[in-house]
Amino acid sequence: MSGDFEIIRLDTGDRLRIDMDGTEIRDSVQVPTVEYCDKCQQQKNIINGDYAMWQGQKILWFCETCK
Ligand SMILES: [Zn+2]
Repeated sequence: MSGDFEIIRLDTGDRLRIDMDGTEIRDSVQVPTVEYCDKCQQQKNIINGDYAMWQGQKILWFCETCK
């Protein structure tokens, strides 16, 4: 599983994973309700925010205002 690129749409829970060979896997996940915004540095409701995962680690998340 290492090397996968993963993006989760926080408003819908839709997840897209892209394997190293380019295979796209789409499924759905339960998402948390609040997240720490990396721009305004506050806990914000995750609805309409954006974040990205790389190899299972969260990189950045931006709230609805900051994205
Ligand atoms: Zn923010």
